[in-house]
Amino acid sequence: MSDFVDLFAKRNRGWPWPERSFGLTPMYGEDGWCHACGVPSRQQQGSLILQQRGLTVSGAWMPNWRFDTLCMARDVAEEVSSRFDIETREVKWARSSPGDAVQIVIPSTTEKWFEGEALAANAIGLHGKAGAVCGTCGIWRWMPLWWGKLPPLVDTSILGGYDIVASPEWFGAGWKAFRQVLVRRELAEALATASPRDFAVKEVSELTAGVAGAGQQQSDVPRRSVSVPAGAVSEVFGAELLTASAVQGAPSPDARRAAEHARAMLQRSNGQASADALAEVARTMFDGGEIAEALSLWQQAEAHGSVAAHRALRSIGYGESDR
Ligand SMILES: [Zn+2]
Repeated sequence: MSDFVDLFAKRNRGWPWPERSFGLTPMYGEDGWCHACGVPSRQQQGSLILQQRGLTVSGAWMPNWRFDTLCMARDVAEEVSSRFDIETREVKWARSSPGDAVQIVIPSTTEKWFEGEALAANAIGLHGKAGAVCGTCGIWRWMPLWWGKLPPLVDTSILGGYDIVASPEWFGAGWKAFRQVLVRRELAEALATASPRDFAVKEVSELTAGVAGAGQQQSDVPRRSVSVPAGAVSEVFGAELLTASAVQGAPSPDARRAAEHARAMLQRSNGQASADALAEVARTMFDGGEIAEALSLWQQAEAHGSVAAHRALRSIGYGESDR
């Protein structure tokens, strides 16, 4: 059994403020995070500010948008701070305070956690692409992967001095940017016990995958059913929708019909099909769950000058400087 586990968030509570910066400006400063991809460029230097809307300050929780951030009510914070080596910071409130809370500031290792080739293979398997370089800050983000879908850690000894620790690798697409987090088992159990509706303690197969007999990784990602209305892929939520669609499973019959239609169009016209018409077909495919084919079709359409395809790719975090 490994010393580290995944503190799996069953839900998110509390919205960071201001929403325009997804809560990043108070934490990192206006110029301390990339306004194109959301990755911070320096250490956290200010408080996470939360809106009290819909939030009861109790137990421990993961806020919305800041997926490598954990919050705790004061009583929980006092208990775990006395037992574990964690850095905390006071949570501030957009208006009046609904209670005292602190945030755990999670340090990253400088040593990499994963082999790039293995990450690329897993990301391509799930999303049809490995990741992208942000055209503004130059940070590479791997497409969203999570425990159960990651390759084995290169060297678990680098986790030794930590009670909670984040990967140096960034993941995400569109506006989503996060690191992988591992939590020392006893700390994870304390937080999950304090907030059983917020967290579950999950074993991380990637920590034992190198051990003889550990065998193939099994994904325990629940299959979600989502329906994506046409045109609903906003810049903000594109990545979440993409992730949700990727684990959704079988594409819809509409999406499959659209894919066949696209193949026929391309064959009939020897690649001279109208780029915008292809982009429209790709949208139907994407909305119906044919993610990889939709992406490839959008890329073809974009290469033939379709502005609609270019916009669609940008809206879900593609079409940047990695091609
Ligand atoms: Zn960036």
